[in-house]
Amino acid sequence: GVNTAYCPLPISRLRDRLTAPLWKLLQKASQEAEKRGWHLYLVGGAVRDLLLAENQKQVLLEDIDLVVDGFHKSADVGAGVELAKALQKIYPGVRLEVHGQFQTAALLWHKDPDLGSLWVDIATARTEFYPYPAANPEVEASSIRQDLYRRDFTINALAMRLTKPRAGELLDFFGGLLDLQSRQIRVLHANSFIEDPTRIYRAVRFAVRLNFEIEPQTESYIRYAIASGIYEQIQGRNGRAPALETRLKSELKYILQAPYWKPALQLLAHLEALRCIHPTLELDEKLWWEVRLFDRCLQKFDPQKTLEHWQMRLEVLIAYLAPEFRSKVANNLQLPVDSIERLENLDKAENNIIESLPKLQLKSEIVQFLRQYNLQTLILIAVRNSRIIRQKIWRYLTEWSHIKAHLNGNDLKALGYKPGKQFKEILDALLTATLDGKIDSRESAEAFVAEHFPLEN
Ligand code: ATP
Repeated sequence: GVNTAYCPLPISRLRDRLTAPLWKLLQKASQEAEKRGWHLYLVGGAVRDLLLAENQKQVLLEDIDLVVDGFHKSADVGAGVELAKALQKIYPGVRLEVHGQFQTAALLWHKDPDLGSLWVDIATARTEFYPYPAANPEVEASSIRQDLYRRDFTINALAMRLTKPRAGELLDFFGGLLDLQSRQIRVLHANSFIEDPTRIYRAVRFAVRLNFEIEPQTESYIRYAIASGIYEQIQGRNGRAPALETRLKSELKYILQAPYWKPALQLLAHLEALRCIHPTLELDEKLWWEVRLFDRCLQKFDPQKTLEHWQMRLEVLIAYLAPEFRSKVANNLQLPVDSIERLENLDKAENNIIESLPKLQLKSEIVQFLRQYNLQTLILIAVRNSRIIRQKIWRYLTEWSHIKAHLNGNDLKALGYKPGKQFKEILDALLTATLDGKIDSRESAEAFVAEHFPLEN
């Protein structure tokens, strides 16, 4: 039955937790819904976060889900779409997007002076024509309940009514409030993860981010879904419905770019959920060490984060697979071309480096040899290999690759050399001699050039 008796966040206190412009927007939305005899609910993550933020003054919400329960007199327009259009009249600057045929709409504010950047999704609860007014509580309960039942976890399946009467009332059909209080991630039904495997990654994300526990029964559903061959399911849809891969990738991205990516990765491994990426993928001691070392390297060599760090973390995981699986997995996850190529060529590059690098002693030889590889490939190979390899790559990246000849093209011109083919030869020779310690100043560089490349006249 519906449990709406307990109202932990009266509307007056809800108001305190929202910024004034957002509160005003919700008021306007409610008024527009009330005018039409509809109910409007705040649902999903916003309700969860508002209820969790017990002692905080305001909650920063950038992403809001609303559900309208009502039907439009013309059967080809969803109530959600109509409500969004009504709001657009009040807020002319907002962008309106309509998704699906006519069931959902989104309102997007970008760097608005009052609302900031805000994304409001408006869905329609009633998917079929219902000949009763929304004032009928039974009809109301069944349609919002249906909407909430499609959601992932009980804590995300709470709704707060915004329209009168009984504005501020919490609709809690699945025990979400109790789970919020006892900090549990719990699915709504046993088939949830089979239905949508990306929920496994969402469970981990919420558990780690909110510091919640995955409720034991829910954990056993996860394990059951994985044991029943999720990877095959994901592969099986390949080519037909890419939506699952896309969502899996975006959940992976969410997790791997979060500040809590390390505990999240450990929890995924604990649940054996890395098997969704590939059935042979396991986070053993060695891989765990590799990803952490890799991360430290990235922080050192790319402090400005010009590279996609989350994606590089994923590459370390994929690189841990046997070479023949790597490019397929990278392709399945729709990684960018450079990333797929890097993983495809990793085996060859790695073999080449393992074969040649230990034999090279002169800095100039090492620099010339490693110059053909980019930073990402070198870090990948460094963390995966023996200390001998790692140290040479490390010194190349930290010191030797930065060493410059003491003269540049302009200096050579000033010395009387004519720009042309010989320039590169001279500059290369200068760099080699500098790397190998034969030149240590501008003067010795000039002497070196004069000796080895005498001017004709
Ligand atoms: P966040 O604060 O990370 O944005 P959120 O709860 O808003 O958390 P979203 O990914 O934005 O998460 O999803 C919004 C809502 O949509 C969720 O609260 C949940 O109710 C529902 N939802 C999202 N993804 C799924 C899914 N895979 N299965 C079921 N429901 C989902």
